[in-house]
Amino acid sequence: MERIMQADLIVKNAAELLTCQAAEAKRGDELQDLGLIADGALAIKDGRIEFVGRTADLSDWQATETIDARGKVVMPGFVDCHTHLVFGGSREKDLLRKLRGDSYLEILKQGGGILSTVEHTRAASADELFAAGMNHLDTMLALGTTTVEIKSGYGLNPETERKILEVAARLEQAHPIDIVTTYLGAHTIPKEKTKSEYIAEVLDSLEEMKPLAEFCDIFCEEGVFTYQETRRILTAAKECGYKLKIHAEQLNTLHGAELAAELGAVSADHLDHISPEGIARMAASSTIGVLLPAVPFYLMLSKYAPAREMIEQGMALALATDFNPGSCPCESMSLMLTFACLQMKLLPSEAINCATINAAYAIDRGATIGSIEQGKQADILIVAAPNHETLSYRFGRNLVERVIKKGVVVQVNS
Ligand SMILES: [Zn+2]
Repeated sequence: MERIMQADLIVKNAAELLTCQAAEAKRGDELQDLGLIADGALAIKDGRIEFVGRTADLSDWQATETIDARGKVVMPGFVDCHTHLVFGGSREKDLLRKLRGDSYLEILKQGGGILSTVEHTRAASADELFAAGMNHLDTMLALGTTTVEIKSGYGLNPETERKILEVAARLEQAHPIDIVTTYLGAHTIPKEKTKSEYIAEVLDSLEEMKPLAEFCDIFCEEGVFTYQETRRILTAAKECGYKLKIHAEQLNTLHGAELAAELGAVSADHLDHISPEGIARMAASSTIGVLLPAVPFYLMLSKYAPAREMIEQGMALALATDFNPGSCPCESMSLMLTFACLQMKLLPSEAINCATINAAYAIDRGATIGSIEQGKQADILIVAAPNHETLSYRFGRNLVERVIKKGVVVQVNS
């Protein structure tokens, strides 16, 4: 006699079920492999995926709730592996300066840009930051993001950096989206301190922030932190037990990519100005390149990360929004798929792998999320699209119909 297995939730008849499965971050041709199952189905029990396969092979399973995904795509939830989601104020006035022709670094030098966000973030109460953060997370969830990395970095003193990371911890408790935290004290230099004074303060604060942050990050850029200063801070962070990230080669080539590979950073992010040597060194390492295509778009810059070259050389890539008030006030991972395709020539399949399984590896969560595989956490999207290419094709519109988080439908978009 056949044994019938009981699930909490079954999703069946998917036109395309994208498993995105991988035992490590995908590279090269693997990036085009979505592990696509036509007429796909899955079964979820206790928040975990228990069955993945064809609908025809689902006969051993029954469930209290069934979703018919006929004509739709079923895929892993988006993992937004690079955001600055906790901040005070808003920067729509910077748009006017930008349209006048001021560059990002010029606005920074004038004390505008990031430093105005620092002022607003210092002035905001934890409750105000929390309420704004919940609002952004609600938007992200509706757009299909199920895990988010959040960096501090708009405090630039230990007191406010701590406030931001504590708000991120409260958000993790309060919101269905899972949150991974990063200490980015070295985001820029505060007005009231010299650079050497501030570097000393960041080094001193590493121990204090460690319980609040899994990763340590730094903005390695001309006019911000040099290669040597980056090496010094990341080396100290590593000794303190942090996993490492770096904002590298965003506007200029400082060889932060090579440094990330050397120090065993989990990711190096931006990379629009990466050198051939940087590509080679990252390709030979486990460090993942996180590409943020909305940033050059929003800064009206013409140079994007050389994604095709990176893939050909064997680099592991991920995609994220960089959601922040200055260079990407946008929460949509679907839009990142479109930008990655049109501006970086990624294929739709590559972009989806970069925004799910590889993004999970870029925050060291590849073993538990980012793909639809037996035993993994059931973070799943039902997308109103007949095939995966449509996600990159129909931009500016939310195609995500339902979001399943830890096995529970937490979002239904009409
Ligand atoms: Zn960033």
